[in-house]
Amino acid sequence: MRVVVCGGGGVIGACTAYFLRRRGIDVTVVERTEVAAAASGKAGGFLAQDWCSGTPLDALARRSFALHAQLPGEIAGDWGYRPMIAYSGFVASDGDARRHAPSALGWLGDGVVIAQRIGTAKTTAIVHPRKFTSAVMDAALALGAGLHPGRVTGIGRDGDRATGVEVEGSMVETDAVVIAMGPWSLLAAQWMSLPAVYGQRSPSIVYDTANDVPADALFLEYEEDGNVVSIEVFPRADGSTHITALSDIAPLPLDPAAVTPDVDAIARLQSMSERLSPLFRPEKIIAQQACFRPVTEDGLPLIGKVPRSEGLYVATGHNVWGILNAPATGEALAELIAEGATREVDLSPFDPARLTPLDPSLLQAR
Ligand SMILES: Cc1cc2nc3c(=O)[nH]c(=O)nc-3n(C[C@H](O)[C@H](O)[C@H](O)COP(=O)(O)OP(=O)(O)OC[C@H]3O[C@@H](n4cnc5c(N)ncnc54)[C@H](O)[C@@H]3O)c2cc1C
Repeated sequence: MRVVVCGGGGVIGACTAYFLRRRGIDVTVVERTEVAAAASGKAGGFLAQDWCSGTPLDALARRSFALHAQLPGEIAGDWGYRPMIAYSGFVASDGDARRHAPSALGWLGDGVVIAQRIGTAKTTAIVHPRKFTSAVMDAALALGAGLHPGRVTGIGRDGDRATGVEVEGSMVETDAVVIAMGPWSLLAAQWMSLPAVYGQRSPSIVYDTANDVPADALFLEYEEDGNVVSIEVFPRADGSTHITALSDIAPLPLDPAAVTPDVDAIARLQSMSERLSPLFRPEKIIAQQACFRPVTEDGLPLIGKVPRSEGLYVATGHNVWGILNAPATGEALAELIAEGATREVDLSPFDPARLTPLDPSLLQAR
């Protein structure tokens, strides 16, 4: 059996290709930019075992958290997997008596109040997402997967059955197709019956903090101009610290390489970061960036068979948990494609048939 993974440079496509190859299935990855060029290279990389408890994502997240712990023993490379502690808290505003009090965590500035420990080294961890995605892709390639650079422009079909993937006019023949193009999976609704996928933009700044910041993830409330915004801080094992806040709605550029951050949002995020710790100085900035998270109408991913088709599958819409949930998504999809059913995780909550398909005429303007 041959499978083509469309958008395989993202973490979801890379994990799917890897788990398919582990089963000996012939896999070709089609990627229009480069590996980890989009959200999968610009995310925080934070992982949590039980933060999806009580939601349909729980089993997927728990399985994936366990796979993240196993993969460093199975795949070559160092992507900085490390357990970490997570805290919630807030930045004391003007007039708050705690504004000038030292923080409970010594590396933070005065007035950063730590309220609660919300994750332990057993339940929370982190990876460097670009290095993780690249290592998984390299592992798939080492097992014999093929990488086909280019833009997916259509699907070849014989009735309901997929027969190929059109890459900029030429057809790559296949028996099965996986759409894993992140928010750009929206475009696949022109070629098959798929619900809408949207892109939610988030800016981030990465600082070089060397060994000065311990493995403490922070989820803080920050008052700015009378509004409270959430800011997240993720120190990683390679000495970089990723900070993100201020998500907004912005048009998704057709070309993933054309995603740029909003200048004002980056300036606001930089000034918020400087308030958090003296370590976040302008000369320590490594990257100022933005990326689009893939989201669906009900907030759950689309993972499984595309309705009214043979050999068409989709895996996208992972929203804020795409790095966490990629390994279990890839494993489950490989089981579904190879055996017709999953063993580890029930994919029925993520069945694309649960949502109304997008009207393809709405995409014609694109
Ligand atoms: C600021 C930020 C922080 C985040 N932090 C975390 C976190 O801490 N933990 C966590 O679990 N998740 C996090 N996420 C979410 C996570 O990044 C995403 O859910 C995940 O990366 C989505 O992966 P993907 O493979 O679906 O999509 P993408 O990474 O967008 O990959 C899609 C790929 O498809 C390719 N493509 C698009 N169109 C075509 C085409 N026509 N032909 C061929 N290829 C195509 C693109 O070039 C791209 O490489 C964060 C997201 C953001 C924005």
